[in-house]
Amino acid sequence: TNAIFTGVPTTVFEVMSRLAIEHKAVNLGQGFPDVDGPEELRRIAAEATVAGPNQYPPMLGLAELREAVAAANRRFYGLDIDPASEVLVTSGATEAIADCLLGIVEPGDEVILIEPLYDCYLPMARRAGAEIKLVRVAPPDWRLDRDALEAAFSERTKAILLNNPMNPAAKVFSEDELALIAELCVKYDAYAICDEVYEHLVFDGRKHRPLMTFEGMRERSVRIGSAGKTFSFTGWKVGYISGPASLIGPVAKAHQFVTFTTPPNLQKAVAKGLASDDAYYEGFVADMTAKRDHLSDGLARLGFPVLPCEGTYFVSVDIAGMGLGEDDVAACRTLTVDAGVAAIPLSAFYPGKNAPKTFVRFCFCKRPEVLDAALDRLEAYL
Ligand code: PMP
Ligand code: GLN
Repeated sequence: TNAIFTGVPTTVFEVMSRLAIEHKAVNLGQGFPDVDGPEELRRIAAEATVAGPNQYPPMLGLAELREAVAAANRRFYGLDIDPASEVLVTSGATEAIADCLLGIVEPGDEVILIEPLYDCYLPMARRAGAEIKLVRVAPPDWRLDRDALEAAFSERTKAILLNNPMNPAAKVFSEDELALIAELCVKYDAYAICDEVYEHLVFDGRKHRPLMTFEGMRERSVRIGSAGKTFSFTGWKVGYISGPASLIGPVAKAHQFVTFTTPPNLQKAVAKGLASDDAYYEGFVADMTAKRDHLSDGLARLGFPVLPCEGTYFVSVDIAGMGLGEDDVAACRTLTVDAGVAAIPLSAFYPGKNAPKTFVRFCFCKRPEVLDAALDRLEAYL
């Protein structure tokens, strides 16, 4: 059947946000901050809008943003990226993922996805003609098993799509796990499409390490970032891809027919943002760590078993035995409609069979008073 898009449901983020609005629930479902990013960057975008030009920028992205992406690769990861041929600016990481799949995958190629997975991966990969191989990781530690991963690779593997830090698992892949993925990519001559939108959201002294920095991976990886996540401008939809010219070339061919370009005023502001001092990046992590602890501690106090959160801006809880409904989907409905707090069922991230059905994800990048209001509502309901 080629009816994949007619068979694909509306994304869970939109469904839950609509339900949250309808029931005036505190929305801890869809992941977005409730405080906009730095005012200085908003002013740059505003001034660039007034001053213009507001016409098509270069297809690969403004030179100043491509240079800023290359500089950030060097500064944070010691990666040597050529801004002229190894960076592509996109309209959000979502477009970047689509471009990478369309540019790299040929119909019939196998693509490996790790479950639970971000919801656009599977329909987009299928649409690109991929045959999907799913590898599952399980809570609480979401450990990647060597045998399971090795079993997914074959001579037909074209690429693995890796989300690190991982939404919704809130996992940061260990050095060992990344080394294993790199080893198998090299062994099977496969590419890695690395969705690293949460690269600057890792906690407790962890440091993000791109798969691209592992031996043999520089020439076979593309790395995706998002200004939505790094600067709290999810509505801007500015993303960027770094990778070897041999991959950026075909990926840019997809980009030229998907959006062609990204608004120049926003690109200007994001270029400035990427060059922010350490205080910005450190302050961002410190603020999000406090929010994570605020919500995690609050949920634990209410009796929810809370899973660890190493990165991203999500925490998940086990709702088994909490009396919220027969499964996570029912529980999220109850939480939104009756308790007044929207959340996301983790089963939405599992296209495979026999998904766990007792986990619910909350987004914590909200003001303290909003987190308190959500916790108060939950307490009143439970
Ligand atoms: N990848 C992951 C893992 C995400 O959680 C998100 C969500 N925002 C995206 C990609 C999409 O990013 P963008 O808003 O930049 O398109
Ligand atoms: N990435 C966000 C999340 O996981 C949602 C983005 C979207 O709505 N597409 O909640």
